[in-house]
Amino acid sequence: MTHQPPANPKVPQMSEPTAFIATCDLAAIVRGRAVPASRLTSTLTSGVGWVPADLALTCFGNIAPDNMFGSVGDLRLVPDATAFATLAETEGRPATVLYVADQTQLDGSPWGGCPRTALKDAIAALEDATGLTAHASFEHEFMVGTMTGAPPFSFERARGAEPFGSALVAAVEGAGLEPESWLPEYGEGQFEVPIAPTCALLAADRAVLLREVIRDVARGHGHRATFTPLARPDGVGNGVHIHISLYDASGAPVLYDPQRPGKLSQIGARFAAGVLAHADALVAITAPSPVSFLRLAPHRWSAGGAFLAERNREALLRICPTIRIGGRDEAAQLHLEYRAADATANPWLALAALLRAGLAGLSGDEEARVWPETATEAELAEVPALPGDLASALDALARDEVAQSWFGTELIHTFQLVKRAELEAVGDLDPAGVCRRIAEVY
Ligand code: GLU
Ligand code: MG
Repeated sequence: MTHQPPANPKVPQMSEPTAFIATCDLAAIVRGRAVPASRLTSTLTSGVGWVPADLALTCFGNIAPDNMFGSVGDLRLVPDATAFATLAETEGRPATVLYVADQTQLDGSPWGGCPRTALKDAIAALEDATGLTAHASFEHEFMVGTMTGAPPFSFERARGAEPFGSALVAAVEGAGLEPESWLPEYGEGQFEVPIAPTCALLAADRAVLLREVIRDVARGHGHRATFTPLARPDGVGNGVHIHISLYDASGAPVLYDPQRPGKLSQIGARFAAGVLAHADALVAITAPSPVSFLRLAPHRWSAGGAFLAERNREALLRICPTIRIGGRDEAAQLHLEYRAADATANPWLALAALLRAGLAGLSGDEEARVWPETATEAELAEVPALPGDLASALDALARDEVAQSWFGTELIHTFQLVKRAELEAVGDLDPAGVCRRIAEVY
């Protein structure tokens, strides 16, 4: 694993006619504006215009009423010149470059509502308080509705997905997102693209970009990819598992200690204790849709309870396996996987919340209990349940003053407003109807 963000391999020459400058908002929708290639250089410096009330947009496209912005105010979307993906030309659609951007004030100073800035602040807070640097990777599952029928994990499914599959791997690799593999998953028409870990901000940027690259390549091949947490109540979930590792100032990994339970160091157990202590508020941010909580139930291999366990796919926090083949270094591999996220969550916000919760744990002396791989279901019956629905998770967030303090007022206030508005919008639907409605968006 590298400790510096790798240089993005493709600096665009802008033979593409436009670049799209985007934020990923509280509903995890990528929104922004396109500029002609001729204006890219000046746009990289001073951005494009943006509107504060856009932060109150729900996933259904309306601005949540009674937001704190109203019709006034102006912001800039200032792209990060190193954070982009080039999307190839496909039939009838020219190539373009998608940049991720910070939402700033007109003088370029940070704006309290910007989710990407919230992650930058969380990274800095962790580093200032502990000297530790976080690396992460977001592992995405998604479904392609036209590819049902072939068995889970099968070569038949992989071949049936051609030429889309190979084009997707090429596009993800070409965009510098470092795909590790491409696999037919367990659910009907379900696939997964794990990408390599990298420093926290870049990892979250890549999650934002990866979703759009997958959607775009699917569209180009006449398919629609959905990342919805659950396409139907009795279906298989689409998770986003967030892998986190920590390094000290010398670049040495700090989560591994072979003498301790699960080989997880004291630093790791404290970080995990913070995540578990704030779990109920965290899931409001990492699994923030009305169907997310249908996925977060026991026996779905999503997250069946708020616990830390060795190699258990039902745990909220899983200690991932280390490979010893060929004498590989276990210390460099051991890391934590947070399993209760999905693609209705903004990657910057989800990772910011996890790092802040972990930092709260590092600031205390509680250590999370490591449930061994051999723990039985009867033994695990004592672990705390996660909130049963989005309303309960939002209530937990509203009660958790520490969690609220991790974000600017504009952001955390508007987040709760948007999520309550989304809940209200599907209030009359039965679970199958809510699943359909959310799948239309994601
Ligand atoms: N599909 C499961 C989820 O919803 C994850 C299965 C796996 O471990 O990859 O999170
Ligand atoms: Mg998976």
